Amino acid sequence: MKSKKKLQRILLPLALTLILIGIGVAVWLAASGAGKNRHAEIKDAANTNFPLRVDFVDVGQGDGILIRCGNETIVIDGGERDYAGAFVAYLRNEKVSDISCYIASHPHNDHIGAAPAVFSAFNVHMLMTTAFSELNTPTNVSYEELLTAVEAERDCEVLFVKAGDTFTFGELSLQIFAPVSESTNHNDMSIVVKATYGDVSFLFTGDAEFESEQAMLDAGFDLRADVLKVGHHGSSSSTTPAFFRAVDPAAAVISCGKDNVYGHPHREVLQMFENAGISVYRTDRDGTVTICSDGVDLFVRRSY
Ligand SMILES: [Zn+2]
Repeated sequence: MKSKKKLQRILLPLALTLILIGIGVAVWLAASGAGKNRHAEIKDAANTNFPLRVDFVDVGQGDGILIRCGNETIVIDGGERDYAGAFVAYLRNEKVSDISCYIASHPHNDHIGAAPAVFSAFNVHMLMTTAFSELNTPTNVSYEELLTAVEAERDCEVLFVKAGDTFTFGELSLQIFAPVSESTNHNDMSIVVKATYGDVSFLFTGDAEFESEQAMLDAGFDLRADVLKVGHHGSSSSTTPAFFRAVDPAAAVISCGKDNVYGHPHREVLQMFENAGISVYRTDRDGTVTICSDGVDLFVRRSY
């Protein structure tokens, strides 16, 4: 009897310890995502009939992005003023009438030059922009025209967003990661937004450069995304190795003009994607790039 009790005294704690270790390992595996491929699979799209559809419209040297999820339509930028007609025509051709939210990433002509034309062509229900302090307020024509266009738009809610804000549009959730703080470099005032639908997410970075990328890393945001809209047209002033590792994308989209004078995208950025085996889509070579999702996988279509 005595030895049986002794055995129990040894075995019971041992069994409990093993159970606790087992639970610990299970929790760690779940938290780290080990054993499961986090990334959505990328396939060619036979059609674009999916609940989430993101068009990276070819607007030359600039950004123009159309996001549709259910009944919600979100537009980010639209390219230079010279491309405004083509961008509006693209949206009309896609049967856009109302825009739930227009995100003006930052006040440069290659992003918001087309904004006044978008506001006059469609009913825009919300504008997301950034607040600038008085001395840092942009003075360029594109920004002033955007403000005039917004004033003329009835019932357009204007939101000055900042890092940490979150929004929901139907089944699409938006998390704002930047700007974290004010910068006199207006590229670093770009609104950086992660859009998530089901298991897939896209990170739209505007022209955010090193300073903003570091601020997002320091803020500890979950930057991971399946698709990265590469910052600043693939310039080497964006996409630091640390930022790239944190996003850990499966696919990258670069919006830039054919033979642009800036040499975008820069070789070192392309090299980083190539070394990591990331699929890169470019509006200068692929034309408008459409990435759709059912919330699980990604389906890509190029216009060229
Ligand atoms: Zn730009």
